[in-house]
Amino acid sequence: MTLSARYVFPVEGAPIASGCLTIQDGRIAWVGSARERVADLDLGNVAIVPGFVNAHTHLELSALEGQHRVAEQAVEIEVEDEVNWLHRVVEQRKSGLPGELEQAVGRNLQESIRAGTTSLADTTTAGLSWDQVAEAPMRAVVFAELIGLKRGRGLQTSAEAWDWIGSIRPEAQVIANARPGLSPHAPYSTAGWLYHKAAASRLPLSTHLAEMPEELELLERGSGALRTFLETLGAWDDEWEPISPRPADYVRRGELRNADWLIAHGTYLEPTEFWQFRPEAAPNNHRVAIAFCPRTHARFGHSPHPYRAMLERGVVVCLGTDSLASSPSLSVLDEMRFLHRRDDSLNGPLLLTMGTLFGAWALRAETTTGSLKPGKSADIAVIDLPDREDSDPHQLMLESDLPVSATMFEGKFVSGAWSHF
Ligand SMILES: [Zn+2]
Repeated sequence: MTLSARYVFPVEGAPIASGCLTIQDGRIAWVGSARERVADLDLGNVAIVPGFVNAHTHLELSALEGQHRVAEQAVEIEVEDEVNWLHRVVEQRKSGLPGELEQAVGRNLQESIRAGTTSLADTTTAGLSWDQVAEAPMRAVVFAELIGLKRGRGLQTSAEAWDWIGSIRPEAQVIANARPGLSPHAPYSTAGWLYHKAAASRLPLSTHLAEMPEELELLERGSGALRTFLETLGAWDDEWEPISPRPADYVRRGELRNADWLIAHGTYLEPTEFWQFRPEAAPNNHRVAIAFCPRTHARFGHSPHPYRAMLERGVVVCLGTDSLASSPSLSVLDEMRFLHRRDDSLNGPLLLTMGTLFGAWALRAETTTGSLKPGKSADIAVIDLPDREDSDPHQLMLESDLPVSATMFEGKFVSGAWSHF
């Protein structure tokens, strides 16, 4: 099957006006100009881009009470104190009905697919999202959360995570395009031994790191709003000692470096630490990448995120939405557009690479997906374009609020207008 479109964005290579994409057996067989091939299906005034990679989300979480989902195109986001927000997330989970988290996973997977996502990194409780993610037309790493400063809580969450991993048949992973991983939650909530145990597992890892000033205060002085929060929950442990006062040491020190790490946020890492997060600095071909979630970052009124300085130092910064509890949608394209409105000096090609190929690299899937290249899987998103011209076609996609109109995974439309093809 050959598709044609007003623009094809291969990502590895310049955009092609009147572009064509030939798909054979679920893979991309050819990419080029419509002058050279006759299309079976002309998608019209759209952009064909690689399927988006959502490098950080929690599919089991829903929007919090009183949270409006209307501001998807806003430049400004209402700011909320992050520790207060953590309280509200915990409250929501306590009051949840049985089956609610699983239902949210199903809903949020559908929303992700409609938003053009073909790969994602999901963080979940003891593998809760696994069955649904593994069945979905999606590439994924599912990270089971390890949490607890108190030994008992840490033992419980790690036993549940390992039970889940032990229950997965290896052949099921190959069929499902999904892999299990582990996520020590964050330095402020998770004892150091859980980080060490995760790093020894040889599984892909993810963690929330250097996320807020309160985390730095807790690690440096054992005090502050997070300590009060943990005490209120009964989760504080007087015996607790951090691995280090610096969050970076939780993933970059000694044996902790011997793993693939996908770092959510990283807002308060020091510029002097950025070099440690470059791919070349990881031992034994391990990977390390930062998943930046622009709208969630804006929501908590943090210091500016250093994504630009990180990129300039060679750090792989990809994009995530985080969960619906902090973000108005699960669309990577919405994150790209939000970032573009706030910082139009970040050029279109780089922004699109962050939302696709960099995320694929972070998930060790860049030889399969993340760009439109012969041999890769036909994972694509189709985006409606406005009826105007622009000398930079990326602007047509970024300075617009037109939606993703179709998603294709492994050569099959899995949502949108052409699903009968
Ligand atoms: Zn998160």
